[in-house]
Amino acid sequence: MGEAVAETVGERFRELYGAEPEGVWAAPGRVNLIGEHTDYNDGFVMPFALPHTAVAAVSRRDDGILRLHSADIGAGPVELRVADLAPGSDKAWTAYPSGVVWALREAGHELTGADVHLASTVPSGAGLSSSAALEVVVALALNDLYSLGLCGRQLARLCQRAENVYVGAPVGIMDQTASACCEAGHALFLDTRDLSQRQIPFDLAAEGMRLLVVDTRVKHSHSEGEYGKRRAGCEKGAALLGVDALRDVPYADLDAALERLGDEEEIRRLVRHIVTENERVERVVSLLESGDTRAIGPVLVEGHASLRDDFRISCPELDLVVDTALAAGALGARMTGGGFGGSAIVLVEAADVEPVTEAVRDAFAAAAFKTPRTFEAVPSAGARRVG
Ligand code: ADP
Ligand code: MG
Repeated sequence: MGEAVAETVGERFRELYGAEPEGVWAAPGRVNLIGEHTDYNDGFVMPFALPHTAVAAVSRRDDGILRLHSADIGAGPVELRVADLAPGSDKAWTAYPSGVVWALREAGHELTGADVHLASTVPSGAGLSSSAALEVVVALALNDLYSLGLCGRQLARLCQRAENVYVGAPVGIMDQTASACCEAGHALFLDTRDLSQRQIPFDLAAEGMRLLVVDTRVKHSHSEGEYGKRRAGCEKGAALLGVDALRDVPYADLDAALERLGDEEEIRRLVRHIVTENERVERVVSLLESGDTRAIGPVLVEGHASLRDDFRISCPELDLVVDTALAAGALGARMTGGGFGGSAIVLVEAADVEPVTEAVRDAFAAAAFKTPRTFEAVPSAGARRVG
């Protein structure tokens, strides 16, 4: 995030609100390297931050008014009273930043208003967590301006609460933690049970590799209902196995657990995905820590097969990215994010970026799918002040 962006956002703030912002902050979107749908099972995830960020210029107000504007929405600022903010009352984009103000106040922090102007380069609805970037950038700005003294983990929790309760989306803790806590050149190994975390060196460029993100530009309308079903199925699986969460089923006990589930075929599939996925995260961590980065490729591919065949949340476009990239020489590939569309990640040797990108584009054209959007994902910094 260059200073130039901070300056543009600051200038627009001046035009809108007639004064300098007190500061400018940035928070990134994220890609999950491995650990899919494990976060609501108390399991492991491993996201890293994108160079794409939501940027916010913010000033405090002392009259109880919250004014919100997004460069990407194209209407005038929305004006709200902080005392009137109530969960479920807002179905527009403003629910994300308002929800953060609401969650901070609910947690006992005295906020007397703010002027906010936002602009984001995180693609919206592509599974790259534009929503968490929006929440975290506002939370960090208010944390600094109002001297709340909250750490990244605490801000992430409050942002998750904003999205769960205020916006009404039952998301886990991964996205907000990634946006708040990631470090450049690292992936974040996060235990979603106790939020303990470890920064794992993940500097692909130094090792002659690249990680591509392929946004299929597909957003299935039924994804929320399907997410709810998977979540409920995982909870049922945990209950049938007598554990608090599927995280508590050790990989070594998987066969016995599946046997105990008898003819609950659907639940067996969900359990198998979660238990093997947690093991894959641990395997990727140990491969990266021992410097065997190329060897994570096949683990990503196993993860994709599990999401496609057991968890059943892939779609033809995501499968086509993975199959085509692997056939064109990629080291590994898998869908990432919630599923039914969104993005896939592809690990390639630096020299293979062009041929793999072209192969995917050609395959999409041949299948008459929308032209996918491909970009390189460099593990980048988490939320920070930029101006
Ligand atoms: P994802 O987080 O995967 O991008 P979500 O559906 O969780 O998808 O969040 C997307 C929503 O976040 C958008 O519909 C919009 O309400 C809000 N949003 C994202 N980026 C912006 C932006 N730049 N300006 C205003 N709202 C945004
Ligand atoms: Mg989101």
